[in-house]
Amino acid sequence: MIHAIRALLPEGWATDVLVQIDARGDIANVQAGVPAPPEAERAGILLPGVPDIHSHAFQRAMAGLAERLPSGEASFWTWRAVMYAFAGTMTPEMVRAVATQLYVEMLEAGYTTVGEFHYLHHRADGRPHDDPAEMALAHLEAARAAGIGMTMLPTLYQTGGFDQPAEPGQIRFLHELDGYLRLVERLRAEMEGRPDERLGIAPHSLRAVPPKVLQEAVRAWRDIDPDGPVHIHLAEQVREVRECLEATGRRPGERLLDLVEPDARWTLIHATHLEDAELAALAASGAVAGLCPSTEGNLGDGLFRLADWLEQGGALAIGTDSHVVIDPFEELRWLEHGQRTRTLRRTVAASLAEPHSGARLLRAVLEGGRQAMGRPIGRIEAGARADLVVLDERHPRLVERPGDLLLDSLVLAPGRGMVRHVMAGGTWQVRDGRHRLHEEAAAAYRQAVAGLAA
Ligand SMILES: [Zn+2]
Repeated sequence: MIHAIRALLPEGWATDVLVQIDARGDIANVQAGVPAPPEAERAGILLPGVPDIHSHAFQRAMAGLAERLPSGEASFWTWRAVMYAFAGTMTPEMVRAVATQLYVEMLEAGYTTVGEFHYLHHRADGRPHDDPAEMALAHLEAARAAGIGMTMLPTLYQTGGFDQPAEPGQIRFLHELDGYLRLVERLRAEMEGRPDERLGIAPHSLRAVPPKVLQEAVRAWRDIDPDGPVHIHLAEQVREVRECLEATGRRPGERLLDLVEPDARWTLIHATHLEDAELAALAASGAVAGLCPSTEGNLGDGLFRLADWLEQGGALAIGTDSHVVIDPFEELRWLEHGQRTRTLRRTVAASLAEPHSGARLLRAVLEGGRQAMGRPIGRIEAGARADLVVLDERHPRLVERPGDLLLDSLVLAPGRGMVRHVMAGGTWQVRDGRHRLHEEAAAAYRQAVAGLAA
């Protein structure tokens, strides 16, 4: 059991909070305003762990390698060419080492679960592995080793663009629908009964999955798991919006609404380029906007319409996507600062009802992350997973910050080393800022990537 000086509970801040955790790793009971029993571990400030809802783990090893000017103009699409070349070199052993290092870094930063949007399915020549789930299993093994929760999102990928065949760089990603559904069933059996794991599906995007296949996949998934998460890349790049318009006469948001009925089980990754009507309809659908502010900035994607989305009651969550940054609070700072820079205003995420911009963002992504991952996380309450972050209450950046001023400072005026301990699934994975595999994972990572940038 843990006794915290202050804890962020669903109903607000509470003091002298006792959190009891059962043998399964769930929160059994939460009591505020009680003295610490002698056997309780003392903690300063207790927050729910943050869900990182969008990851392509292998890209962690190429973070920083695509920042040099190529011949001609650098864009998302030139970055993608570098990424495809890089993806071509990845073996299951490398993925295991890179993902383990990544998940260790996530836990050290305060993320306690990851949504792995996994599309690197096959061998480099496109042939399936002997076990077609081998790459997915490599990610699961990495998550289990690091002790991070995982929503595994195997990706369905078929076409290289609207009505375009797949490109050579995409041959590792491809499935016919029946092969894809076999992979889903195989992973479902593998993950059954594990409280830190959940399976979802991820049709890659409207440009990579033909409309009928998208509809069939969603229907089949509903038969398998009626509540199961569905993630899709929606409208990241202006060019893909243009191509969608040219091919279908509809913008991506409109097209999605035409083809399926997005609802609270859906997460729309990079809901970046939305016009008024699609924004209103998607916000009202209950789907989560899955934002990856540091990646969206790095790739020159554009800025999400945060104020409009929040005003319409839209749900949101954050992911680290290409992993140029692994820090939930920095991700939220990017989100807010991007908006300020664009609108020439301050506290864009705040409202009269929720006047603290940093606090509002953090609360929003805890709830949205819980929804997007389809797991009982993001809250300190009985029945939730014991995914907890302990902040250092003596940190100079956090002293004299009562109530939500603490979250504003954490997000918008942070210092180094504020995250002290991190628990996921009822086990301390990080103590005093270091994951129990900190050295070991880094050594395996160094070995796995040796020669990769040559
Ligand atoms: Zn992505």
